[in-house]
Amino acid sequence: MIKKVLLGFMMFSVFLLCGCGKKEEQQPDKLAQIKERGHLIVGVKYDTKPFGFVDSDNVLKGYDIDLARAIAGKIFGNEKKVVFKQVYPHNRISKLNSGEVDLLIATMTITPQREEVVRFSKPYYTVGQAIMVPKGSPIETIANLNGKRTIVVLGTTGEKNLRRFAPEARVLGYKTYEQGFQALREKRAMAFTTDDTILSGFAQDYPEFIILPQRYTKEGYAIAMQKGEATDSLALDINHILDDMTRDGTLVALKHKWVPSESDKKILSKRIKRKIK
Ligand code: GLU
Repeated sequence: MIKKVLLGFMMFSVFLLCGCGKKEEQQPDKLAQIKERGHLIVGVKYDTKPFGFVDSDNVLKGYDIDLARAIAGKIFGNEKKVVFKQVYPHNRISKLNSGEVDLLIATMTITPQREEVVRFSKPYYTVGQAIMVPKGSPIETIANLNGKRTIVVLGTTGEKNLRRFAPEARVLGYKTYEQGFQALREKRAMAFTTDDTILSGFAQDYPEFIILPQRYTKEGYAIAMQKGEATDSLALDINHILDDMTRDGTLVALKHKWVPSESDKKILSKRIKRKIK
């Protein structure tokens, strides 16, 4: 009898010690946490003009930066209530999931693999994978890159797609876009492949490079949050904010500002000329 009681007691102690009796610990609500802190912490890129970049006056700018400010404006009634942290494609998910940042607004494409580890908002911008080459290059399509050295940024959809569309390409991977573009300028490879938006930022500043006309994917940029119940209300809020921004024209205005079409550019230059007169 005593033996049975002792055994029962021991088993109960083990049960308590391993925490089997406890309900899974609930994470505090992320949106409530952010509101209590008084500002958002957003992971953004510093080297992907025109989405997130540092200009010649050392000012952080771009579409994603403005979007983060507008979201802070909707949450706090003050667009200044946001702190930016630099992220790269290879480390952004770990910075999000370790809690270093609340959101990633970082030219990040929604993919099924990423959806396993983060929660995405609705898409806010659509891009396509493109190829950048020096003017006069013999490369015309992605298939031409088979057997050729091609630059990608590690951890991007561009890297993955290149391996799919041109499996024989000799892939040169860099951690940042600046390093990748520098390698292209130094002729270490025949081409650089990533989102058309990011390549257009380089093409604007370096007209000796062109972007080939074909697009190989259609990808949606979205805002990433941690997965789980703790971000349920945050995700709901962010999606409502994006809906509002679609309705009130904020997203279109951001596109005209940061990724102007040829007609946007003409209107802008007319306005500038009028001011000069
Ligand atoms: N949009 C692509 C991606 O999410 C390339 C740009 C980037 O890595 O930020 O992989």
